[in-house]
This record gives sequence, structure tokens and C-alpha cells, in this order.
Amino acid sequence: MRVATYASHSALQILKGAKDEGFETIAFGKARAKPLYTHYFPVADYFIEGTYPEEELLELDAVVIPTGSFVAHLGIELVEKMCVPYYGNKEVLKWESDRNLERKWLEKAKLRLPRVYDDPDDIDGPVIVKPHGAKGGKGYFLAKNSTDFWEKAKRLGIRDKEDLRGIQIQEYVVGVPVYPHYFYSKLNGELELMSVDRRYESNADAIGRIPAKEQLDLEMGTNYTVIGNIPLVLRESLLMDVIEAGEKVVETAEKLMGGLWGPFCLEGVYTEELEFVVFEISARIVAGTNPFVHGSPYSWLRYDFPVSTGRRIAMELREALEEDKLRDVLT
Ligand code: AMP
Ligand code: AMP
Repeated sequence: MRVATYASHSALQILKGAKDEGFETIAFGKARAKPLYTHYFPVADYFIEGTYPEEELLELDAVVIPTGSFVAHLGIELVEKMCVPYYGNKEVLKWESDRNLERKWLEKAKLRLPRVYDDPDDIDGPVIVKPHGAKGGKGYFLAKNSTDFWEKAKRLGIRDKEDLRGIQIQEYVVGVPVYPHYFYSKLNGELELMSVDRRYESNADAIGRIPAKEQLDLEMGTNYTVIGNIPLVLRESLLMDVIEAGEKVVETAEKLMGGLWGPFCLEGVYTEELEFVVFEISARIVAGTNPFVHGSPYSWLRYDFPVSTGRRIAMELREALEEDKLRDVLT
């Protein structure tokens, strides 16, 4: 068995972790990425050109570790149909890709979520408006009341309530972004807090460098295009909140979709009232784990050797292989 993933996102970490656990590794993707994985950072034993070279992967006895890039490039329908063994539960894909199903999952888990306004005329505080399927906050806008909403919505071609189907209006929660990364081991039934990051986003993190008066003159909107990730260590008294949120998500997934296992991440903000408000779940490895190739403060507290999320995945695969339980963790 060899460990394979799409050459982008968190592939360096995944393949490094797999090598550390003694697996041979495969990266596949764009030709331009090859030197990154074979020369500058030699973590891939094989590099195959292509978005998803199924035949070669089957021949090499590969297991694919899904990432945000893999799923985005291949598309959910093809991921659901792929023949190469996939680490994780494919059932989860449709739950997290549909904003309404995702919300149902997180509501059932009793997490604190931003309020959603079905009727823009009910808006009674700041909101963030998200077109469905928008990436990196492209096309998001903020509005302070319903008049402001209708004015800005016009730019997206939204003129009346009939046009609202393509967007979601969420309460804008003022707080600092916190993205805890978890790993749930299906083999030993335990949840681990792997690490925490916050994102470094353009232009959201650039606006503060411009004086307020000039921001107004420039009529700037906010975008959230991810440029990198910044490691974070949480105030210790918040750790149980974050861990309980992860436990509840896993428990609910068991009932709704036959389980969530492997890495996942809750994306939210912490308010000044110390409330963790979650606006999204990523049910696979997130690139926010990349600062922790050599482990994080949290993985160090649990293990006596450096454990990244990528390595933790490989440890699980190794254990499954040894105990003849691969079929339990692959779909
Ligand atoms: P890429 O392969 O870099 O084009 O990324 C594919 C998807 O993963 C996009 O939706 C990105 O927003 C997301 N992504 C990539 N890198 C990161 C990162 N470092 N932090 C958060 N999201 C990321
Ligand atoms: P998303 O693409 O949904 O991950 O959102 C991109 C960014 O928008 C996040 O990183 C947050 O900074 C911000 N954001 C999203 N939803 C909310 C919300 N309900 N309240 C405040 N900020 C939000």
C-alpha cells in the first residue's frame, strides 16, 4: 500500500507524515508542481501528472488522502464515484458541501451558530452575505441593516425576495477567528485536538494597515482570500469548549451519516463573551495544519515524538494495516 494525494494544499505534510511512518508516497497533479514534491521538498517517491490518474494509482496500490484541493479539482460527484480507496467517509461530502445540510448537522450538535436571516427585512444588526459555493469570500459582502442590504445586493443582481435562493444571510459575529484541528480515530474511538490556526487573508488582514479615513475614501469591501496560516495556542480555559464541540460533531455524525473519522476542522470566531461561534466545518485535513509539520504544542502534550496531522493519518493507516482493519477506515 502507498499513500497518495493531490499535489497542493497540505500534500507536503501528508506525504512527509506517510514517509515518517514508513510508507512509499505518491503525489499527482500539475506538471509544474513536480519539483516541489520531488526536488525542493523530496516527500514524493512517485509523481504522476493528472487531476486523478486512476489507473496508475490502482496499479501502485494507492490510498488517496482527500484534501480541499483534491475535492475542489475533481468535484464531489467524481470523488463519490472514484475506485481508488479513499481515507474517510465519503457520505460526509454532501453534508458539508450543502449549506443547509451542514447547518442541520451543526445545529443537531448544539453548537452556537450565527443566526441566519431568511427575510432581509428582518435584519436587525450587522450581517455577512454569502453567495452559495463562493470561494475565499469572493462575492461576500457586509451590510448594517436591510436598506444597506438591498442597496449592496443590487450589485449581485438581487432585486427582490425571489432572487435570494443563491445566497445566505448570516449574523456577522464580531470575534477573533479560531480554527481548531481535530483527529478522530475510528480504530480506538478517541478524539484528539491536533492544533489550532488562524488564517492570514487578503484583504481582510490588509485593511487594518490603512487609516480609517482612507478606507472610507477608497470604499473598500472585505475579501478573505487565504494567503497563509498562523499558528495559535488557545487560552487554556477554552480548551474544554473546543474539545466538547469536536466530540459533539463526531457524535452527531455517527447518527446522521455513519460517522466522521480522520481529520476535521471547525471554523469559527471567539467572541468577547468567550463564546465559540462556528460558521463552517471542513470534514478532512485543512491546510491550517501546515505550520505543524513537526507537531504542535497539543500533539506534543500527547505524543513523545513529532506528530503532524499528516503523520497521524499515516499512523492510523499503519495500525489498520497491522490489525487487518483497513476496510473500516477506507471508503
Ligand atoms: P489550492 O490548491 O491552493 O488552489 O486550494 C484549494 C482550496 O483549498 C481553496 O478553496 C483554498 O481556499 C483552500 N486552501 C488552500 N490552501 C489553504 C490554506 N493554507 N488555508 C486555508 N485554505 C486553503
Ligand atoms: P468562509 O468562506 O465561510 O470560511 O468565510 C471567510 C471569512 O469570513 C472567515 O474566515 C471569517 O473571517 C469571515 N466570516 C464568515 N462568516 C462569518 C460570520 N458569520 N461572522 C463573522 N465573520 C464571518
